[in-house]
Amino acid sequence: MIGANVIDMNRIIVITGGSRGIGAATARLAAAQGDAVVISYLRRRDAAEALVRDITRAGGTALALAADVGIEADVERLFRDVDSAFGRLSALVNNAGMLEAQSRVEDMSAARLGRIFATNVIGSMLCAREAVRRMSRRHGGAGGAIVNVSSAASRLGSPDEYVDYAASKGAIDTFTIGLAKEVAADGIRVNAVRPGVIRTDIHAAGGEPDRVNRVKSSVPLQRGGEPDEVARAILWLLSDDASYTTGALLDVSGGR
Ligand code: NAP
Repeated sequence: MIGANVIDMNRIIVITGGSRGIGAATARLAAAQGDAVVISYLRRRDAAEALVRDITRAGGTALALAADVGIEADVERLFRDVDSAFGRLSALVNNAGMLEAQSRVEDMSAARLGRIFATNVIGSMLCAREAVRRMSRRHGGAGGAIVNVSSAASRLGSPDEYVDYAASKGAIDTFTIGLAKEVAADGIRVNAVRPGVIRTDIHAAGGEPDRVNRVKSSVPLQRGGEPDEVARAILWLLSDDASYTTGALLDVSGGR
C-alpha cells in the first residue's frame, strides 16, 4: 500500500443500508482500499452476508449487522456491537433510505409519512448521534467523518412521485449543514452526497423498476448513474483528500 491508502488504512467505517445498491458499492470500495466495514441491513440478510463473504474472500474485513435505523434501540445495539468488535469508529456513511409507491401528496397517509421520516431523517440523525458520541474529541474520540446520503430530490422536489421522500432529503441537507458546524471543532467533518437517478433496486420500491430509463433523457449526461460512481464521491468525502471540506452538499447527478 502506498500514498493516501497508508494514511487511511484500518479505518472502521459503519455503512447503514450496506446490503444493496449504493451502500454495498461503498462497502466494496472501502474494503478494497483497506478499511474495515460494518454494513447494516434491514431484512436482506442474504445479500448482506453474501457481500461480507465476497469482501472477506478478497482479504478484507467486513461485518454485517441487522438494525432498523428508525428504531432507537436497534441503532444503539448496532453501535454497541461495533464497539465490541472493533473498539473504535472512524467514519459513518448514513446511507439507509427508502421511498414508497409513487403518489401525489393528497393521497399520502400519516403512516406513510411517518415511515419515510423515521427511516430517512430520524434514522440518519440517530446514527449520527451515536457516531459523534464515539468520534468526537469532546468525548475522548479521535475525530472522524460522516457522509449523509441525501438526494438531488431535495432540490427537485419529486412532484407526482414522492414529495415526502424529497422533503426528507431536504431535512438531511439541513441536518448536514448544522451538524457540520456543530462538530467541526471536535474533529468531525460532515458532508452529504446528493445522487441523481442511480441504477439500484430503490426504483422498484416506488413501483417503477425501469424509472432510470424513463428519466435519463432529462439528465444532461444522458444516462443513469452507477452505484460505484456515488461510492467514489462518498469515499472522497471520507478521505483526508477532503480535509478542508465540511458542510458540503455534493451533487452526483449527471448535471440534473
Ligand atoms: P436500495 O438499493 O433500495 O438499498 C437500500 C438499502 O437500505 C438496503 O441495504 C436496505 O436494507 C437498507 N434499508 C432500508 N430501510 C432501512 C432501515 N429502516 N434500516 C436499515 N436499513 C435500511 O437503495 P439505494 O438506491 O442504494 O439507496 C441508498 C441511499 O441512496 C438512500 O438513502 C437513497 O435515498 C439514496 N438515493 C438513491 C438514489 C437512486 O437513484 N438509487 C438517488 C438519490 C438518493 P435491506 O437490503 O435489508 O432491505
